[in-house]
Amino acid sequence: MHEDEYAQMIVDAVRPINREYYSDKVKYWLIKSDIVLDDEKADRLVTHIFEGKTPENKNICKGRLANGKRCKKPARENGYCGFHQKQYRPPTGTQVNGNRVVRPKNIPTLL
Ligand SMILES: [Zn+2]
Repeated sequence: MHEDEYAQMIVDAVRPINREYYSDKVKYWLIKSDIVLDDEKADRLVTHIFEGKTPENKNICKGRLANGKRCKKPARENGYCGFHQKQYRPPTGTQVNGNRVVRPKNIPTLL
């Protein structure tokens, strides 16, 4: 199964649970906060919130333009377009060194 299909499947499975769990709370909050004045409008808004389409997860470049705005070109490699490849930084994870013995830190050693 493709990654996008799997993500969509999860969204489809979680959405009804979310709706059931949050719709009453959101509706109560909308009326209590005077955002909407009647039940019907609150219902419509709640429906819109929970039934609305989620934005498509397009692979857009994570790079920044010179003016600081987000680049909108499609990503090609590492999440960056061809032009912004130089902005890619490899993730800094724990470096595993098989030859090194891990010792507990902050324990005073004998001199
Ligand atoms: Zn870019």
